Amino acid sequence: MVLGFDNQIFNNPIPIAERYNGGYKMNMSNEIKLFDTFERKKRVFVPLEHGKVKIYTCGPTVYDYPHIGNLRAYVFTDILRRMFEFNGYKVTQVINVTDVGHLRSDADEGEDKVEARAREQKRSAWEITDFFTNLFKQNLISLNIGSPTILSKATDHITEQIALVERLEKLGYTYKTSDGVYFDTSKLAEYGHLARLDIDGMMPGVRVEKNPEKRNPTDFALWKFSPKDQKRQMEWNSHWGVGFPGWHVECSAMAMKYLGETIDVHTGGVDHIPIHHTNEIAQSETATGKQFARYWMHVAFLTVNGGKMSKSLGNFFTLQDIVDKGYDPLSFRYLLLTAKYSAGLNFTWNSLDGAQKTLSSLRERIYEWKDTNAEPDESILGKFRSYINDDLNTPKAIALLWKTVGLSISTAVKKATFAELDKALGLGLIQTKEDDIPETIRILVVKREALRKEKKWNEADKVRIELESQGYRIQDTKEGSRIKR
Ligand code: AMP
Ligand code: ZN
Repeated sequence: MVLGFDNQIFNNPIPIAERYNGGYKMNMSNEIKLFDTFERKKRVFVPLEHGKVKIYTCGPTVYDYPHIGNLRAYVFTDILRRMFEFNGYKVTQVINVTDVGHLRSDADEGEDKVEARAREQKRSAWEITDFFTNLFKQNLISLNIGSPTILSKATDHITEQIALVERLEKLGYTYKTSDGVYFDTSKLAEYGHLARLDIDGMMPGVRVEKNPEKRNPTDFALWKFSPKDQKRQMEWNSHWGVGFPGWHVECSAMAMKYLGETIDVHTGGVDHIPIHHTNEIAQSETATGKQFARYWMHVAFLTVNGGKMSKSLGNFFTLQDIVDKGYDPLSFRYLLLTAKYSAGLNFTWNSLDGAQKTLSSLRERIYEWKDTNAEPDESILGKFRSYINDDLNTPKAIALLWKTVGLSISTAVKKATFAELDKALGLGLIQTKEDDIPETIRILVVKREALRKEKKWNEADKVRIELESQGYRIQDTKEGSRIKR
């Protein structure tokens, strides 16, 4: 299987797929607790608006293949969104696509990652960002990550970003240097609280300061000017000069546009805490005078061999690498769910292999169970909800799946229960005979079943051999023949 591109599923922006058709029962009495990085503690979730949740998720910088660590960040937010839906909330989620302004260094220095890649590959910056945005969308689909309500590109929101910088300028928080417009962080008494930054201890020069015009080491760019000696592919006019927005501005501007000035939950990876999210808070709260996000949630890093993923170490894996080695992307999702999102996780091919075997055997057990119209077991659903509502305790939720397999209740009830649980987990637990099987193969299966009914064993066996030669294994169960790749 090659992960291809499918532009039709996502447009920009996309209305949310109403996948559950209101299928969840509203049950607002269930308490949800989330670990809030801002307060450094688990807090009971209280929505801004009854029954609704607004989530903003920092999205990918689309200049390269997303690695499996990046994808952990989106499996995490997908579980967060599904948990809210499981509890009956209507979720509005924005994921942004950073297609401009993310410089090589998070401290506003170096070349724009997209422009640099475009030059290396002799393609236009727009071609690069389109290609990797599509790849990202395809990765989301492969991992059963539901489409966000809105997937918004930074380059589609330049006007909103300029307006936000102008707002900060009018309030007196900006200053201009020869290379851009900066936010003066010394004007905020609370700057850096999210990351518990020790501002007084940050003497200029401690962080190697390449820009002598910056007034404080923590000041950050709101607008950068195009270099005088080089024509940028992506640049816009502003009254400060031709240039492009600073990386942090897009998230504040798009969150406010689509979700309002205060949102419920803001998510990202732990690497976003000290700079990107710190600066989003500074500029958003200065502009509006309101709290920007009520809960800040951060996913811990996925490592390989205990270290950072990097191209030079040869341990930068993509979802395509996983597929090329014969693994189901959902086995990777299962592996991620066996750990808490807030704990570091070390990826190994052995652990993925184990996850694939476990997931397959779980699916096989469920597949064997009769499919009648039973009601799910409410006590199991309740227990499951208490686990995922407790700061997304997916390891406990996964353990509950296995306990449920072993329960001595009707298999039809078990199957109905798993169908409900899988709405929150997205592991493709309920497989049907038709899943992934081409029409030509299905015809052969039907033909073989007919031959067996007529007790034409030899001919039926020839069909089985034909199926096997095409890579399909047939298994005869009480409910009929089952075909597997
Ligand atoms: P980027 O495309 O670099 O902006 O990153 C996209 C998302 O992936 C961000 O939320 C990062 O915080 C997150 N991220 C980057 N590396 C990892 C990793 N190894 N494990 C988990 N999340 C990561
Ligand atoms: Zn962001």
